[in-house]
Amino acid sequence: MTYYAGIDVGSTATKAVVVDGTGRSLGSSITPTGVSGSEAARSVFREALERAGAGRRDVRSIVATGYGRELVTFADARVTEITCHARGAYERIEDPFTLIDIGGQDTKAVSVDSSGRVERFLMNDRCAAGTGRFLEVMARILETDLVHLAAMALDAARGVKINNMCTVFAESEVVGLLARGAPREEIARGLHRGVAERVGNMAKRVGLRGAIYASGGVAQNLAIVASLSDFLGREVAVIADPQLNGAYGAALVALDGA
Ligand code: ADP
Repeated sequence: MTYYAGIDVGSTATKAVVVDGTGRSLGSSITPTGVSGSEAARSVFREALERAGAGRRDVRSIVATGYGRELVTFADARVTEITCHARGAYERIEDPFTLIDIGGQDTKAVSVDSSGRVERFLMNDRCAAGTGRFLEVMARILETDLVHLAAMALDAARGVKINNMCTVFAESEVVGLLARGAPREEIARGLHRGVAERVGNMAKRVGLRGAIYASGGVAQNLAIVASLSDFLGREVAVIADPQLNGAYGAALVALDGA
């Protein structure tokens, strides 16, 4: 049997997906990128192969993507995240759609037409606001983790408005709110709303064509998806295996090129 692999070296997490000749996903793996993107890439590739029951020699082509794609020296090609995310989502959607990818340290909005072509995209990789990193820092200040922070936000009847979305200023603002006795749930809700507004505004600038989908690790956070739907006034669906979408798309790009 012949296999194709996609490896997505993100700033926070490294992902691999192995597909067969029909594009069916057979095995995947996720690990923190840590200090060595190349080591993380080798490790997820090995594990995804094992889970797919595939041997290294049966892999016909490997495509690397993500912020650290140049580190994957054993890949046959390197392709941008925008192309790979669009390709992964297109496999499941086919109609024109807008994809909002929220990762650990960057966010992208991509508009894709009915033939899978990327029409427009925007990316924020300069600022932690509007990424998973922002929520991680805020979870620490509220002495909780990401999963509980999201659960608190979903439980809150209302949110406190957070005025500063710059991580450093937001940190002081949250400390001040806690000191004044604001409920943690309401702060959590306000923080999710703030991220959703930032990300949602970027998606609006791209054009919100067709149905709206979310991908990336942060799409697993239902409070973000709910806040984003609320802010945009439109349903936001989560793509299957959202954190693997870029690696899956990279594997499909490898297959397309074979
Ligand atoms: P990147 O490709 O930029 O490295 P990912 O798309 O892999 O990022 O997303 C990683 C981020 O997803 C983490 O930083 C974390 O904030 C977030 N994340 C992962 N799993 C969850 C979860 N179950 N709930 C909320 N956030 C999550």
